[in-house]
Amino acid sequence: MKYIIVDLEATCWENKDQKKINEVIEIGAVCINENKEIESEFNEFIKPVVNPELSKFCTELTSITQKNVDAAETFDKVIERFKSWININENFVLCSWGFYDQRQFIADCNLHKTDAAWLKKHISLKHQYAEIKKLNRPIGMAGALKMEKLYLEGTHHRGIDDAKNIAKIFLKNFKEWKI
Ligand code: AMP
Ligand code: MG
Repeated sequence: MKYIIVDLEATCWENKDQKKINEVIEIGAVCINENKEIESEFNEFIKPVVNPELSKFCTELTSITQKNVDAAETFDKVIERFKSWININENFVLCSWGFYDQRQFIADCNLHKTDAAWLKKHISLKHQYAEIKKLNRPIGMAGALKMEKLYLEGTHHRGIDDAKNIAKIFLKNFKEWKI
Protein backbone atom coordinates (compact mmCIF):
# COMPACT_ATOMS: atom_id res chain seq x y z
CA MET A 1 0.00 0.00 0.00
CA LYS A 2 1.18 3.51 -0.87
CA TYR A 3 -0.12 6.49 1.08
CA ILE A 4 -0.41 9.64 -1.03
CA ILE A 5 -0.57 12.66 1.27
CA VAL A 6 -1.94 15.42 -0.91
CA ASP A 7 -2.80 19.09 -0.48
CA LEU A 8 -4.31 21.36 -3.12
CA GLU A 9 -4.35 25.12 -3.51
CA ALA A 10 -7.04 26.73 -5.65
CA THR A 11 -8.13 30.09 -6.99
CA CYS A 12 -10.07 32.01 -4.36
CA TRP A 13 -11.52 35.41 -3.62
CA GLU A 14 -11.98 37.32 -0.42
CA ASN A 15 -15.68 37.83 -0.93
CA LYS A 16 -17.17 34.36 -1.04
CA ASP A 17 -20.42 35.84 -2.47
CA GLN A 18 -18.64 36.10 -5.79
CA LYS A 19 -19.94 32.93 -7.36
CA LYS A 20 -16.68 32.26 -9.17
CA ILE A 21 -15.60 28.68 -9.57
CA ASN A 22 -12.48 27.53 -7.77
CA GLU A 23 -9.81 25.78 -9.83
CA VAL A 24 -6.72 23.91 -8.64
CA ILE A 25 -3.50 25.95 -9.00
CA GLU A 26 -1.10 23.67 -7.12
CA ILE A 27 -0.86 19.96 -6.35
CA GLY A 28 1.57 19.17 -3.53
CA ALA A 29 1.98 15.53 -2.48
CA VAL A 30 4.32 13.04 -0.85
CA CYS A 31 4.27 9.26 -1.29
CA ILE A 32 4.81 7.17 1.87
CA ASN A 33 5.37 3.40 1.82
CA GLU A 34 4.56 0.67 4.38
CA ASN A 35 8.03 1.15 5.91
CA LYS A 36 7.09 4.72 6.83
CA GLU A 37 9.54 6.09 4.26
CA ILE A 38 8.83 9.12 2.09
CA GLU A 39 9.55 7.64 -1.36
CA SER A 40 9.00 10.70 -3.52
CA GLU A 41 7.35 14.10 -3.84
CA PHE A 42 5.07 15.64 -6.46
CA ASN A 43 4.77 19.40 -6.82
CA GLU A 44 3.31 21.24 -9.79
CA PHE A 45 1.53 24.51 -10.39
CA ILE A 46 -1.52 24.55 -12.68
CA LYS A 47 -2.76 27.29 -14.99
CA PRO A 48 -6.47 27.93 -14.28
CA VAL A 49 -8.63 28.25 -17.41
CA VAL A 50 -11.95 29.79 -16.29
CA ASN A 51 -10.40 32.58 -14.21
CA PRO A 52 -6.73 32.73 -15.24
CA GLU A 53 -6.06 35.88 -13.16
CA LEU A 54 -5.20 35.19 -9.53
CA SER A 55 -6.77 37.60 -7.06
CA LYS A 56 -4.54 39.61 -4.73
CA PHE A 57 -6.24 37.71 -1.91
CA CYS A 58 -5.26 34.34 -3.43
CA THR A 59 -1.62 35.32 -3.96
CA GLU A 60 -1.39 36.71 -0.44
CA LEU A 61 -2.98 33.57 1.06
CA THR A 62 -0.96 31.00 -0.88
CA SER A 63 2.18 32.94 -1.90
CA ILE A 64 1.56 31.52 -5.40
CA THR A 65 2.20 34.21 -8.02
CA GLN A 66 0.64 35.01 -11.40
CA LYS A 67 4.00 34.10 -12.98
CA ASN A 68 3.91 30.66 -11.31
CA VAL A 69 0.55 29.76 -12.85
CA ASP A 70 1.19 31.50 -16.20
CA ALA A 71 4.27 29.30 -16.67
CA ALA A 72 2.34 26.14 -15.72
CA GLU A 73 0.26 23.71 -17.77
CA THR A 74 -3.49 23.26 -17.47
CA PHE A 75 -5.20 20.73 -15.17
CA ASP A 76 -5.84 18.11 -17.88
CA LYS A 77 -2.09 17.80 -18.56
CA VAL A 78 -0.87 17.96 -14.96
CA ILE A 79 -3.44 15.46 -13.64
CA GLU A 80 -2.15 12.82 -16.07
CA ARG A 81 1.38 13.28 -14.70
CA PHE A 82 0.03 13.11 -11.14
CA LYS A 83 -1.79 9.83 -11.89
CA SER A 84 1.38 8.39 -13.48
CA TRP A 85 3.43 9.48 -10.47
CA ILE A 86 1.00 7.68 -8.13
CA ASN A 87 0.70 4.74 -10.55
CA ILE A 88 -3.03 4.34 -9.95
CA ASN A 89 -2.92 0.68 -11.06
CA GLU A 90 -1.05 -0.15 -7.86
CA ASN A 91 -2.56 -0.22 -4.37
CA PHE A 92 -2.81 3.36 -3.06
CA VAL A 93 -4.93 5.64 -0.91
CA LEU A 94 -5.22 9.42 -1.15
CA CYS A 95 -5.00 11.10 2.24
CA SER A 96 -5.80 14.76 2.84
CA TRP A 97 -6.64 17.05 5.72
CA GLY A 98 -10.43 17.14 5.25
CA PHE A 99 -12.65 16.31 2.28
CA TYR A 100 -12.05 19.63 0.51
CA ASP A 101 -9.15 18.33 -1.61
CA GLN A 102 -11.12 15.33 -2.90
CA ARG A 103 -14.13 17.55 -3.74
CA GLN A 104 -11.93 20.11 -5.52
CA PHE A 105 -10.14 17.37 -7.50
CA ILE A 106 -13.50 15.92 -8.63
CA ALA A 107 -14.76 19.39 -9.63
CA ASP A 108 -11.68 20.00 -11.80
CA CYS A 109 -11.86 16.50 -13.34
CA ASN A 110 -15.48 17.23 -14.27
CA LEU A 111 -14.58 20.66 -15.64
CA HIS A 112 -11.90 19.10 -17.84
CA LYS A 113 -14.09 16.08 -18.68
CA THR A 114 -11.55 13.60 -17.38
CA ASP A 115 -12.15 10.45 -15.30
CA ALA A 116 -12.64 11.00 -11.55
CA ALA A 117 -13.25 7.39 -10.39
CA TRP A 118 -9.66 6.98 -9.06
CA LEU A 119 -10.39 9.75 -6.51
CA LYS A 120 -12.73 7.43 -4.57
CA LYS A 121 -9.78 5.84 -2.76
CA HIS A 122 -9.56 8.66 -0.25
CA ILE A 123 -9.60 9.24 3.50
CA SER A 124 -9.83 12.46 5.52
CA LEU A 125 -7.01 12.45 8.07
CA LYS A 126 -8.64 15.50 9.69
CA HIS A 127 -11.81 13.60 10.58
CA GLN A 128 -9.95 10.43 11.60
CA TYR A 129 -7.55 12.50 13.73
CA ALA A 130 -10.50 13.93 15.69
CA GLU A 131 -11.73 10.37 16.35
CA ILE A 132 -8.30 9.02 17.31
CA LYS A 133 -7.67 11.88 19.76
CA LYS A 134 -11.30 11.96 20.94
CA LEU A 135 -11.74 15.63 20.03
CA ASN A 136 -15.19 17.24 19.96
CA ARG A 137 -14.70 18.34 16.39
CA PRO A 138 -12.13 18.17 13.58
CA ILE A 139 -9.32 20.73 13.91
CA GLY A 140 -7.03 22.47 11.39
CA MET A 141 -3.61 21.20 10.39
CA ALA A 142 -1.83 23.93 12.37
CA GLY A 143 -3.72 22.94 15.54
CA ALA A 144 -2.92 19.26 15.04
CA LEU A 145 0.80 20.05 14.57
CA LYS A 146 0.74 21.93 17.87
CA MET A 147 -0.96 18.98 19.59
CA GLU A 148 1.76 16.69 18.25
CA LYS A 149 4.51 19.15 19.29
CA LEU A 150 5.58 19.36 15.65
CA TYR A 151 6.64 22.55 13.87
CA LEU A 152 4.74 24.03 10.94
CA GLU A 153 7.64 24.05 8.47
CA GLY A 154 7.72 25.99 5.21
CA THR A 155 4.89 28.26 4.08
CA HIS A 156 1.35 27.52 5.29
CA HIS A 157 -1.12 27.35 2.35
CA ARG A 158 1.54 26.20 -0.09
CA GLY A 159 0.40 22.76 -1.26
CA ILE A 160 3.79 21.04 -1.01
CA ASP A 161 4.59 22.46 2.42
CA ASP A 162 1.11 21.65 3.74
CA ALA A 163 1.47 18.08 2.38
CA LYS A 164 4.84 17.64 4.12
CA ASN A 165 3.47 18.95 7.40
CA ILE A 166 0.40 16.68 7.15
CA ALA A 167 2.80 13.79 6.41
CA LYS A 168 4.55 14.39 9.76
CA ILE A 169 1.20 14.06 11.58
CA PHE A 170 0.43 10.98 9.46
CA LEU A 171 3.74 9.30 10.31
CA LYS A 172 3.53 10.08 14.02
CA ASN A 173 0.17 8.27 14.17
CA PHE A 174 0.97 5.67 11.48
CA LYS A 175 -0.76 2.68 13.12
CA GLU A 176 -3.98 4.57 13.91
CA TRP A 177 -5.41 5.36 10.47
CA LYS A 178 -8.30 3.31 9.13
CA ILE A 179 -7.81 2.69 5.43
P1 AMP B 1 -5.29 25.18 2.38
O1 AMP B 1 -4.95 23.77 2.01
O2 AMP B 1 -5.71 25.38 3.77
O3 AMP B 1 -4.11 26.04 2.02
O4 AMP B 1 -6.51 25.64 1.49
C1 AMP B 1 -6.73 25.18 0.18
C2 AMP B 1 -7.49 26.23 -0.61
O5 AMP B 1 -8.68 26.58 0.04
C3 AMP B 1 -6.75 27.55 -0.83
O6 AMP B 1 -5.84 27.51 -1.92
C4 AMP B 1 -7.93 28.48 -1.12
O7 AMP B 1 -8.40 28.32 -2.43
C5 AMP B 1 -8.99 27.93 -0.17
N1 AMP B 1 -8.94 28.67 1.11
C6 AMP B 1 -8.27 28.34 2.21
N2 AMP B 1 -8.43 29.24 3.20
C7 AMP B 1 -9.25 30.21 2.68
C8 AMP B 1 -9.82 31.43 3.16
N3 AMP B 1 -9.58 31.86 4.41
N4 AMP B 1 -10.60 32.15 2.33
C9 AMP B 1 -10.86 31.74 1.07
N5 AMP B 1 -10.36 30.59 0.55
C10 AMP B 1 -9.57 29.84 1.33
MG1 MG C 1 -2.87 23.89 1.48
